[in-house]
Amino acid sequence: MDVRQCKRCKKLFGYTGNVICPECVRAMDEKFKQVRDFLYDHPGAQMETVCEETGAEMADIHRWLREGRLIQNPNSAPLLTCKVCGTPIYTGQMCEKCTNQVTSQLKSTAASLKPPSEPLPFKREGKMHVNIRNK
Ligand SMILES: [Zn+2]
Ligand SMILES: [Zn+2]
Repeated sequence: MDVRQCKRCKKLFGYTGNVICPECVRAMDEKFKQVRDFLYDHPGAQMETVCEETGAEMADIHRWLREGRLIQNPNSAPLLTCKVCGTPIYTGQMCEKCTNQVTSQLKSTAASLKPPSEPLPFKREGKMHVNIRNK
């Protein structure tokens, strides 16, 4: 079994695809629920307060926001910034404007990408049959 050191508690655990051990995963889930419930009850709470009240770490809250699991209340000061233009944002990776830009870029890229054509047969040099219409 692949044994890793948990990023959180530094304990060794059997690697399951997570960088933290199952115990910490459970603890993080609990913490996340606490934070989510706290925000539900105190919609305008600053994240500093949330950390103090729930015992969650700011880094965890940042990650949850980035992952889109948490959304900051628009009345609080945004913690995150858009990865592209630096605009303060409340959740996710990018501001709305950049998200839209990337989405439309992806769309146009996808449109310009032709579906993979059949693999080219070996070139038969000089034997290409070309129909040339004589005028
Ligand atoms: Zn752990
Ligand atoms: Zn942006």
